[in-house]
Amino acid sequence: MKRVLGVVEGKERGPLILLLGGLHGNEVAGIKAINEVFHTIRKYQIPINGTLVGLAGNLQAIAKNKRYLDYDLNRCWTEDFVKNVYHKQHTLAEDIELKTLHQTILKYPGNKFDTSILVDLHTTSAEKGNFIVVPRNEAANPMVQSLQQPVVVDLDQHLSGTLLKYLQNYGFLALAFEGGLIGSTEAIDLHVAGIWEILKVSGGIDPNSSSDFLSSSEKLLQYSKSLPDFVKVKYHHRISAADQFVMEPGFVNFQPITNGQVVAHDAVGPVKAPVNGLMFLPLYQSSGDDGFFIVEEISILEATGL
Ligand SMILES: [Zn+2]
Repeated sequence: MKRVLGVVEGKERGPLILLLGGLHGNEVAGIKAINEVFHTIRKYQIPINGTLVGLAGNLQAIAKNKRYLDYDLNRCWTEDFVKNVYHKQHTLAEDIELKTLHQTILKYPGNKFDTSILVDLHTTSAEKGNFIVVPRNEAANPMVQSLQQPVVVDLDQHLSGTLLKYLQNYGFLALAFEGGLIGSTEAIDLHVAGIWEILKVSGGIDPNSSSDFLSSSEKLLQYSKSLPDFVKVKYHHRISAADQFVMEPGFVNFQPITNGQVVAHDAVGPVKAPVNGLMFLPLYQSSGDDGFFIVEEISILEATGL
């Protein structure tokens, strides 16, 4: 696996679009989707405006099909941490990943382009895991809206050190695009459709240049049927290894749950939902610091704060 999955530098002015897959090593749907998009671009010689770059995230973890080896590569992107990694004596697996990914991203300075976009592709360990994470002020952005998936407006406030937040400070429109269940073909399909949509709406491609991606909008809509348009976080259940947290089986994202419902067990006993709402990101894999979230649907007015 190479760090750079593909680069197309167009002749015309346009956006910088960085597509990133596998920042969590066991979530490779994004990488497969990026490869598929680059394959189609080459096959039909689709002209690109601006620059399109496909990147792989945690190469060592991808090779071992693990979320991460020493630390989570999507919880470490703070200015201090990144600076410190360049001066460390003894390096951990993710130090090398962080440094090389950082250096690769720096090769494409966002300020040389009209718009700079990072699309960070992920998958989740529960069903119905298709949604977008962006900060509230970008919730109504046409590129975000073109994906037609549930938008979670404040998850970024609950997770520290995401690459998303880091690149926002460098002028990127940075969004996390969760494509669905880990290992599912639907997630690849959804990511491919979403990448075409972002390319179209951002001006990265002429929408009429190939018939291959004409159906991407319908496909995206089909996956988000019956899901909420916008949600915000009501409750965040953080865990540590000592908690011996185990989620009750069978929860899917956006499933309604009620106050007092037993949703998991830990070393102390049953874990009950403290509020009514919709189940979100229930943990069904061995590593992670977030047991589950409870979200609630909000209006577009509340979502965007307009
Ligand atoms: Zn992930």
